[in-house]
Amino acid sequence: MESKLDKIYNLCLKRGIIFPTAEIYGSLSGFFDYGEIGLRIKQKLIKIWKRFFKEENFVEIEGNIILPRKVVEASGHLERFSDPITRCKKCKKIYRADNLIEDVLGIFVEGKSIEELNEIIKKNNIRCLECNGELEDVKEFNLMLKTFIGSLDAIDAYLRPETAQNIFVDFKRIAKAYRKKLPFGIIQIGYSFRNEISPRQFLIRMRSFTQAEIELFFNPSDEKCPIEKYLDIKIPILTREAQRKKEDKVEFFSIKELIEKNIVKSKWQAYFLAKEFIFFTEILNFPKEKLRFRHVLEEETPFYSAGNFDLEYYFDEIGWKEIVGNAYRTDYDLSTHMKHSKENLSFEGIIPHVVEPSFGIDRIILAIFFEKLREDRDWLWFDFPKEIAPYLIAVFPLVRNKEEIIKKAREVYEFLKKYFEDDVIFDVSDSIGKLYARADEIGIPYCITIDYQTLQDNTVTIRNRNTKEQIRVKIEEIPKILA
Ligand code: AMP
Repeated sequence: MESKLDKIYNLCLKRGIIFPTAEIYGSLSGFFDYGEIGLRIKQKLIKIWKRFFKEENFVEIEGNIILPRKVVEASGHLERFSDPITRCKKCKKIYRADNLIEDVLGIFVEGKSIEELNEIIKKNNIRCLECNGELEDVKEFNLMLKTFIGSLDAIDAYLRPETAQNIFVDFKRIAKAYRKKLPFGIIQIGYSFRNEISPRQFLIRMRSFTQAEIELFFNPSDEKCPIEKYLDIKIPILTREAQRKKEDKVEFFSIKELIEKNIVKSKWQAYFLAKEFIFFTEILNFPKEKLRFRHVLEEETPFYSAGNFDLEYYFDEIGWKEIVGNAYRTDYDLSTHMKHSKENLSFEGIIPHVVEPSFGIDRIILAIFFEKLREDRDWLWFDFPKEIAPYLIAVFPLVRNKEEIIKKAREVYEFLKKYFEDDVIFDVSDSIGKLYARADEIGIPYCITIDYQTLQDNTVTIRNRNTKEQIRVKIEEIPKILA
């Protein structure tokens, strides 16, 4: 049977929503292109994300995707941004060693050293899953994609592994030029690149993906965080204790408790956890039961972080996957760039601390597809909310062979564009039944059809995607009704 992921993937291919990069050449695994429909969904998601998360004292930047070696050396990515890798001596299949151990033994090995992983593989005689061959020694594999800048004098450069680094290296200029005072945020939305060892599950593990990151700079001894409005909000936490006991049960904590019990070490981090929960449950309407904040275990928390919380979503048939990472990066990044660049990055007399929510836009799009896929018709369809649907309205002539009807339909389309701009499309490419099905497949909420009666009394039908019901209205009333 086709899995839910396969159904979504196949629909994405069929309708040109998202598809593999360079597919005519057999494609590159982990790389995907967005067609117009996917792109519009992505742009709309980013728009509502910004509307919700970008606050008065935040500024946005667009940094470069290529960073000189010095930046990733200073940030620690060159030395430490790696995964443990092993290969079958016989068939040469490559594995991420920690995932392989977790799959085979069902034990959790995040944060274990290369030596420890090697020992576990040897002791348990773990072999190639394909051919039962012996495995090579585990090695560190750096996940950054490398390139070169210049010609004969070329220097090493790297595609950024996270958007955050631009923000830290631009911090001084932005803070000064935009006359910021602590606390303030710098946000960035754009591509990041990671040479993942085994890209898989469509948009879940890609090699190039879009992140939306906020770096919130603040003074740790006076956070000035407007947390009061969120103190009573309760959010589901998968505690470290639960994870150690291998329990899957979440516990709801109020933001107040999280701060008072020192589970979350910064008010700003707690602030974003609350906001994220509101965003997913109230703006995107995800069910509470499918969301949880996993308190990342000590051994998997990066050494510079004072606490990480992964917001996870439950993908049907797949399981829990991180969609937003939250890190309390302290003053690590500014301090290390200050040391390496010799620029003074202190501000208002201190090195500011940083709290970072990092959203994976593609994974969130896939989560939206999982949430909104409907299978109760002869065709699959998406129940996208209006703010996410690729278009709000599709305009169709009832028949394809009547000039007058097509002309009238074009007039209606032009009229609606004045109100809804590019949120309305026109299509005459197929029979009306097929056009409705296609509109459903890409989640368009309303279809407007121009028929014989339109020519007589200037009325059209509006079909509601969810109920399939049609109402007849006057053309000039459409904007009012749909607004
Ligand atoms: P991280 O910096 O690893 O915490 O990543 C931040 C967010 O980026 C995650 O929560 C994911 O949503 C997204 N992300 C990370 N790695 C990938 C990947 N390989 N493919 C798609 N999204 C990713």
